[in-house]
Amino acid sequence: MHFIVCIKQVPEGTEVEIDEEKGILKREGVDSKLNVYDAYALEAAVVLKETYGGTVTVLSMGPMQASEVIREAYTLGADDGYLLSDRKFAGADTLATSYALSEAIRHLPPADVIFCGMQTTDGDTAQVGPGIAELLELPHASYVSKIGAIRDGHIELEADMGDGIEELQIELPCLLTITKDLNQPRLPSYKLKKVTEGKEVHVWDSKRLAGANLEYLGLDGSPTQVERIFPPPKAQTKELWEGNPQELSQRFYAKLKELKHL
Ligand SMILES: Cc1cc2nc3c(=O)[nH]c(=O)nc-3n(C[C@H](O)[C@H](O)[C@H](O)COP(=O)(O)OP(=O)(O)OC[C@H]3O[C@@H](n4cnc5c(N)ncnc54)[C@H](O)[C@@H]3O)c2cc1C
Repeated sequence: MHFIVCIKQVPEGTEVEIDEEKGILKREGVDSKLNVYDAYALEAAVVLKETYGGTVTVLSMGPMQASEVIREAYTLGADDGYLLSDRKFAGADTLATSYALSEAIRHLPPADVIFCGMQTTDGDTAQVGPGIAELLELPHASYVSKIGAIRDGHIELEADMGDGIEELQIELPCLLTITKDLNQPRLPSYKLKKVTEGKEVHVWDSKRLAGANLEYLGLDGSPTQVERIFPPPKAQTKELWEGNPQELSQRFYAKLKELKHL
């Protein structure tokens, strides 16, 4: 079986500076890491590979430094990695990101299951997974919290809909977006790190996506335009209360009443 996992490199902390003039995050020189939900998606794919056999391919779009998360994925059980990196991809909104990733997936060996994280910790939209599925005309489920068996060309799973759990059976090939309830990602393997040290990260530019409409990529292909981006004002209304639990709970109750929450 072939499993593809879309992984994104995101800024490490929450203190990311904003370029208000250009309306973008200043990502250069910022420490970056693998988007946490993508680690759970990768673990899900590696577990299925270990259960049913096959290979796991990871796919990312970003600047060249994003090859770091592909290298990391190699130490977590991925067999192959592709990075879409080209000025043509830059400035993409979620639609253009979904388009680029879906076109890349068309150029990879056919996948049985495509995995995405449920969202990223920077863009945070949760749109890219369903976007890819729609563009590839694949069935998909978001917020997957449990994966059961693959049988008769279907995968059994549970999806957390917030107010309930949906039990589903989805026909393969399909796309799933993964929550943190699904598994516990393994730690990077020292052995795999050594074995994959010189392993190639395939870097594709836009020309490599033969048949793709280049006008749908990057800023040109992004119907959403940022009018203004700014950090939210920091709340200045913090109060520090001291006292024993009874005093504190009474004071808290009085405060809630004052704020009309009770
Ligand atoms: C109007 C607008 C303009 C933007 N302009 C810029 C810009 O100029 N420069 C810039 O860097 N960003 C820009 N962004 C952010 C960019 O659109 C998002 O980083 C990108 O579309 C992914 O969206 P997300 O982070 O919300 O992903 P989500 O939809 O929350 O991600 C869900 C899952 O999709 C997969 N995924 C998402 N992105 C990638 C990726 N790049 N590679 C592989 N897998 C991925 C992962 O599995 C992830 O867990 C812009 C966003 C908007 C809305």
